[in-house]
Amino acid sequence: MIQLTGIAASDGIAIAKAYRFVQPDLTFAKTTVHDIEAEQQRLAAALAKAEQELVVIRQQTLEKFSAEEAAIFEAHLLVVHDPELIGPINQKIADEAVNAEYALHEVSSMFVALFEGMDDEYMSARASDIKDVTNRILAHLLGVHIPNPSNINEQVIIVANDLTPSETAQLDRNYVLGFITDIGGRTSHSAIMARSLEIPAVVGGVGGAATTTIQDGDTIIVDGLTGLVLVNPSADVIADYQEKAQKYRAQQAEWSTLVNEQTVSKDGVHVELAANIGSPNDLDGVVRHGAEGIGLYRTEFLYMGRENLPSEEEQFTAYKTVLEGMQGKPVVIRTLDIGGDKHLPYLPLQEEMNPFLGHRAIRLCLDQQELFRTQLRALLRASVYGNLKIMFPMIATIQEFCEAKAILLQEKEKLIAGGIAVGSSIEVGMMVEIPSTAVMADIFAKEVDFFSIGTNDLIQYTMAADRMNEKVSYLYQPYNPAILRLIQMVIKAAHQEQKWVGMCGEMAGDELAVPLLLGLGLDEFSMSATSILKTRALLKQLSVPEMQALATEALQLATAEEVLEKVKQAVK
Ligand code: PEP
Ligand code: MG
Repeated sequence: MIQLTGIAASDGIAIAKAYRFVQPDLTFAKTTVHDIEAEQQRLAAALAKAEQELVVIRQQTLEKFSAEEAAIFEAHLLVVHDPELIGPINQKIADEAVNAEYALHEVSSMFVALFEGMDDEYMSARASDIKDVTNRILAHLLGVHIPNPSNINEQVIIVANDLTPSETAQLDRNYVLGFITDIGGRTSHSAIMARSLEIPAVVGGVGGAATTTIQDGDTIIVDGLTGLVLVNPSADVIADYQEKAQKYRAQQAEWSTLVNEQTVSKDGVHVELAANIGSPNDLDGVVRHGAEGIGLYRTEFLYMGRENLPSEEEQFTAYKTVLEGMQGKPVVIRTLDIGGDKHLPYLPLQEEMNPFLGHRAIRLCLDQQELFRTQLRALLRASVYGNLKIMFPMIATIQEFCEAKAILLQEKEKLIAGGIAVGSSIEVGMMVEIPSTAVMADIFAKEVDFFSIGTNDLIQYTMAADRMNEKVSYLYQPYNPAILRLIQMVIKAAHQEQKWVGMCGEMAGDELAVPLLLGLGLDEFSMSATSILKTRALLKQLSVPEMQALATEALQLATAEEVLEKVKQAVK
C-alpha cells in the first residue's frame, strides 16, 4: 500500500477504483512519407475514430447534462467534417510528402491563429473548437487516449494533475465518488466546488505524486477529512475505512437534527449561517443543510462551461430561481468575478503574468460595461422575487465601488422608466478581499450597505502567497494575527456605521476560526452548505464574552501557530 498526504479539500471518505484524468503527451516529429495515399488513409481513419468518439460523448452529455452542453460536441463534429479544414491537410500531405500529424498541426494552427485574431466572440469559440478537435485527431494518429469524465459509467475516483472549475462542474456525483489532484489548495475553485457537490477530495500537497503514483484501476481510499490518500490498501485497511465512513455518516445524521434550528451561541446571541453557491442546482443542498440565507452566489459559474455569454433572460431565470427558492431569506448575489483561475473560452483575455492581480472581476466589468449592465438588469428584474442583495467583487478603490453602484442605479432607473418592477430595498455591498479595502474600511463603510470578507483572496493578497500553490501553502495563514487584525478593522468600521459584516471566504466555515470570528463580532458566516450544521453545533457551545476575550488575546500574539494553540486551548 502507498500512502500520500495532501490537503483535505472536501469532507467525507470515498473508496473506489482510480480513473486517471491526465492529458496524454501529444508531441510528434515532422517526418517525410513515401506513400502519400497510405498517409491520407491514416488521417481518414483517425478522423473516423474521432467522429465515433464525439457521437458517443455528445449522446452521453445530452443524457447526463443538457442540450446546451451537448451542443459543444455538435460543434466539434462539424469541425471533423469541415472540408475547408480537412481538404488543405490532405493537400499538404500530398504536396510536401509530410506525415499527417504535421500537416494537421500546421493547417489547424493557421485557422486557430486566423480566428483568434478576429475580435469576434463566435470566431474565438471556433478557434477553441478547432484546438480541441485537433488534439483529439492527433491522439488517434499517435495511438494515445484522451480521457473524458463524461464517459465514465462506473463508480470511480478521479486522479488528475488539476481540474478546472468547469471540469469539476461536469463531474457526475453518481459515478465520481471522490477526486485527488496533484496541485491546488483548499480555496482553489475546484476544491470549493467539490464541497458544494459533496464529493470527498484531497488536493495539492502530494507533490505531483498522485498522477505519477496511481494507475488506472488501482483501488483508492480518499480521506477528505484528513487529506490522506491510500493506494491499493489491504482488505483490513478498507474495512477500517468503511467503518470510518460509517461513523462520519452517523455524525452527519446527528448534526442534521439542527436543520430547522436558529443559530445561537451558548449565551443566546444570534448569528446568521448562510451558504455559498455556484448555481441554482445547489439550492437543494442549501435547504437540506438548513442555511439561513445565501451569503455568496458566485455567478461566474453561469458564464462558464459554455460557448457564449448567457443572455439577460437566462440570467434572470437563474437569479429568480434562487430568490424564489430561498423564500424571502437573504440572498447575496455577487456580480461576475471572472479571471484568476476562472476563464471564459469565448471571452479571450490577454495573457497576463499575474492573472490574480490582473484585468479581472469588477475591473473587467467596468471596462466591458455592456457585459456588466446585462447582468445588472437581470439582477434588478429578478429582485422582486425575493430578498436580493447585490455585491461587487475585487473592489480596490472607493471610485470603483461608486462607479459600479452608479451603473447599477442607472440601469435601475431605466428599467423603472420602462415600467419594469424592481425591488425597492436592494442592499448594495462589496467584497473585502483586497487589503486596501480592509485598511480603508471606515471610508468604505459610509458608502456600502454591507461588507462580505473574502478571506480566500484577502489571505493570498496580504501574505503574498498564491492560494493555488501548495508550495507556499505554509504561508497561506488564516490565523495569522495580520489577517485577524484586518478582519477586526473591517468589523469595527462597519459597526460604527451600523452596517453588517459577513464572511464568505472558506475561513467562515473553519471550526478553529469560528470562535475567533464570533469574538470579533462577525454578523454572518457564509460557507459550503455541508459545513453549516457542523458550525451550528459548534456555535451553540461558544459564549460571546469568552470568545471576545479569546480574540482580544489572539490579536496581540505574534504568529499563526500561537493563535491556533490559544484557540485549541480555549475550545478544546
Ligand atoms: C474570496 O476571495 O474569499 C471569495 C469568497 O471569492 P472567491 O473564492 O470566489 O475568489
Ligand atoms: Mg475572491
